[in-house]
Amino acid sequence: MPLPNTEAPGYLVAELAARGIRITRQRRTILGVIETANRHLDAAQILRRARRQAPEVDRVTVYRTLGLLKRHGLIDELDLMHLQGEKHFYERKTPREHLHMTCLRCGRVTEFESRLFDSLKKQVQTECRFHIIVARMEIGGYCAECRS
Ligand SMILES: [Zn+2]
Ligand SMILES: [Zn+2]
Repeated sequence: MPLPNTEAPGYLVAELAARGIRITRQRRTILGVIETANRHLDAAQILRRARRQAPEVDRVTVYRTLGLLKRHGLIDELDLMHLQGEKHFYERKTPREHLHMTCLRCGRVTEFESRLFDSLKKQVQTECRFHIIVARMEIGGYCAECRS
């Protein structure tokens, strides 16, 4: 299932370069994997895909790069209802936040965008005088196929 806001590679490299961060070949490969992913990947999957393009990519660099992207607010980390234990999944931060629905039977993850989510965030910011940086909504249940 394609992600709605998947962008051409180059965006994350440009964002990090603009912050004065050195982009090594390993890092460039990892960033490319994250940007072009058509689904939510965990660190092990990112490592595997990166190694297909550049065999020298190592686990430590994957974790360091994920940490760096998180600190700069360029990726989101999801647990997808902990269906796969403590694994975390990553996706490039998109201009519009979306909800994640995880099927508790087949594990399919569906994304959904709604203006109501945006209004809810606005309401929270106004009524609670809280400046939101990250808002995340994860839903668990059964998808249409698993219910039929
Ligand atoms: Zn299902
Ligand atoms: Zn997503």
